[in-house]
Amino acid sequence: MHDPEIQLTAAVHIVKTLTARGFEAYFAGGWVRDFVMNFSQKSDIDIATNAAPDSIRKIFGQTIGVGEQFGVMIVVEAGVPFEVATFRSDVGIKDGRHPEQVVFTDAKNDALRRDFTVNGMFFNPFTEEVIDYTDGQADIQNKIIRAIGDPYERFSEDYLRMLRAVRFAARFGYAIEENTFQAIKNNAGFIKDISVERIFAEMSKMLTGKNPDASLELLHESTLLQQFLPEAENLCGIEQPPQFHPEGDVFIHTVKTLSFLPENPSPLLAWAALLHDIGKPSVMTVSDRIRFNNHHRSGAIMSEAILKRLKAPNALIDAVCSMVDNHMNFMNVGKMRLSTLKKFLSRPTIRDELELHRADCLASHGDIQNYDFVKARLSEFKVEEIKPKAFINGKDLIELGLKPGPLFGKILSDIYDLQLEEKIADREEALLEVKKLIVK
Ligand code: ATP
Ligand code: MG
Repeated sequence: MHDPEIQLTAAVHIVKTLTARGFEAYFAGGWVRDFVMNFSQKSDIDIATNAAPDSIRKIFGQTIGVGEQFGVMIVVEAGVPFEVATFRSDVGIKDGRHPEQVVFTDAKNDALRRDFTVNGMFFNPFTEEVIDYTDGQADIQNKIIRAIGDPYERFSEDYLRMLRAVRFAARFGYAIEENTFQAIKNNAGFIKDISVERIFAEMSKMLTGKNPDASLELLHESTLLQQFLPEAENLCGIEQPPQFHPEGDVFIHTVKTLSFLPENPSPLLAWAALLHDIGKPSVMTVSDRIRFNNHHRSGAIMSEAILKRLKAPNALIDAVCSMVDNHMNFMNVGKMRLSTLKKFLSRPTIRDELELHRADCLASHGDIQNYDFVKARLSEFKVEEIKPKAFINGKDLIELGLKPGPLFGKILSDIYDLQLEEKIADREEALLEVKKLIVK
């Protein structure tokens, strides 16, 4: 994310430069939509022009031909990269972002190849005129996401647009227009034609953006969810003990958990919130009450399978699985030995886990005592206190005459625990403890 002021000045400069050469150039797409609706977190500024890629390259000092054959160039201005795209219509689309062929055209036809009416507007930053061939302004007035033209045709050109419709509707609190929504329902099965990488990226945007809870609900209502994330759809109707979960079934709980995420959550936090109870259906038993024993474990295993299927980055998979696996441990923080607590708090995902725990509680019983406890401990301990450098190491044991072997690790770990417990204060005391152990 670049500073919006710097971005705006630089984008105006690009438009000015193109206009001075006799070309037509406007802001296009998401930024214009966000501007017209006065949305707080504006999308990046993209620029559309009738200048061909060749001319763009000649005019600007720093350009990168990212999708030159489709008429998309990156122009770097004031250190900010901008997509400057030649007006085009797409021909023989395979997956929307990569048409087989493009025809360079005028502004109106460029507007008409875009996905939703609200995304089809241009903005002239000099006259401050909104150029609206798609009636996007009217749909913004009425808070509607509507496909441009025939929704069936538009989705068949690129089925990812179905997920984009959900994302925009959720983010802005808009309704999806009836025909557009019906077309999504009728075509939901085709989401499987889209590469998992694109699905993962789109889902990540939904989960980390505004109103992720509304996205999950819309994915369910549109029947898209059961197509690409049946494990999440299966949370619907899984009853829970009302004394712990007055809110309802596991799906409702998951939706509510997403609603309590902080603004701009990391992808780790957002995915962990979606997946934290994904293991519940597979371990549900009814004894004295409904129980979900070890659902954190089955959840971690399922999360790994889901995220691998979606080809998520490995670092995200590892972190999310660890978060899901640990999410029930917050129950025990008050009873943990100091050394156990410090080890728990020193894990790299603890900050995100803490926020997940808070959202999880607020989405059920509402008691956030353990959240407050962990938060207080985290601010109380300095980093070097939670994860201090060990007072002694293997070399010290050798110098004390011990031979490297299985016992080595055990001794070092016991002494480190004493250090975390603050029962020994320095190296000398640590060595004394080792000597005591040897004598025994
Ligand atoms: P945001 O960046 O906030 O997610 P955006 O609308 O800017 O939303 P981008 O993916 O940045 O989305 O695309 C910029 C513009 O390009 C869109 O506003 C839309 O006009 C067009 N566009 C993007 N993806 C598609 C697509 N799959 N089909 C048709 N048009 C698209
Ligand atoms: Mg954008």
